[in-house]
Amino acid sequence: MPINTPARLIDGFDRRISYLRLSVTDRCDFRCQYCMAETMQFLPRKDVLTIEELVRIARLFTELGVRKIRVTGGEPLIRRGITDLFAGLGQLPKLETLALTTNASQLADMAPRLRDAGVNSVNISLDSLQAPRFKVITRTGDLNRVLEGIDAAIAQGIDRIRLNVVVLDGLNRDEVLPLTQFALAKNIHISFIEEMPLGQVNVGGKPLAYVSSDALHAELNEHFCLEPLSAEETAGPSRDYLISGSTTRVGFISPHSNNFCAQCNRLRISAEGRLLMCLGNEESIDLRGLLRSNCSDDEIKTAIIGSLSIKPERHVFDRPDEPQIVRFMNATGG
Ligand code: SAM
Ligand code: SF4
Repeated sequence: MPINTPARLIDGFDRRISYLRLSVTDRCDFRCQYCMAETMQFLPRKDVLTIEELVRIARLFTELGVRKIRVTGGEPLIRRGITDLFAGLGQLPKLETLALTTNASQLADMAPRLRDAGVNSVNISLDSLQAPRFKVITRTGDLNRVLEGIDAAIAQGIDRIRLNVVVLDGLNRDEVLPLTQFALAKNIHISFIEEMPLGQVNVGGKPLAYVSSDALHAELNEHFCLEPLSAEETAGPSRDYLISGSTTRVGFISPHSNNFCAQCNRLRISAEGRLLMCLGNEESIDLRGLLRSNCSDDEIKTAIIGSLSIKPERHVFDRPDEPQIVRFMNATGG
């Protein structure tokens, strides 16, 4: 019997899945301290889903009720064929939000094509406005290129642009206010992310400490009037506030200090085609195997629906007594 009823993706904890994060490569032109080691072993290209496989799997998920897809990585904009992927995703009739997370190194050149394909939400990682420090954090990044990329996205009129900032004590904590003022001046949004323990992170042998969202909220509250937004107005795990008198939202994503799993509406697909149930757990199924073994659309949809029974209730980032997942973010898709 064909599977054509929408909204079939409901997990064992009654959470409805409407959001898919698609990692299209594990490679990147940056080596951010908290995300990657300096030397990395990347997947052989044959193990990474092809553009055609990515479009097919995205179509199947939209037929099952997914309405938002975020393309991530690694750095998605260095993936060969990426504009074909966006063109294909932009054609999916049921998709409402086509989103991208990028380091913006290629955005100055690509923003018009992305806009034409229908990309309507872009998250841009920006951890520092100081060029030398930006280089230390990213190991290879050129701050000016990133700033040009941000301006290009704004010039294209992309609906929703948000800066993502991972805040670490000893690295960029002192830039929380300047980065917020920058977002305000550009009329874009900003989110501060607590570092998640996915890989080993240290700079010059010194481990860096995560900073709690509550501490950052208190700090910004001294400078701005932050109006809390309702859960309906807030995107997923972020706690969002509007800066009074502006259109800029400040979000706090707090895997350590605020467990957001009860509202989880998302699944992830890794670059090699594993359907991951949770960023902080290992449960997954091998979609690539299904895609490459002549399975029909309905057989793949049935496997996806079945997999939801193993989606865990919560991540374990905030449980020091439990073993943490050591898996670099670029492999999973942040
Ligand atoms: N390359 C793109 C970028 O940097 O925006 C997309 C992939 S990156 C893995 C997605 C997001 O994950 C970025 O905003 C990055 O700052 C964040 N990230 C990476 N490692 C992290 C970690 N250990 N904890 C928290 N956020 C992390
Ligand atoms: Fe690359 Fe993004 Fe990871 Fe930085 S956070 S190394 S830009 S994938």
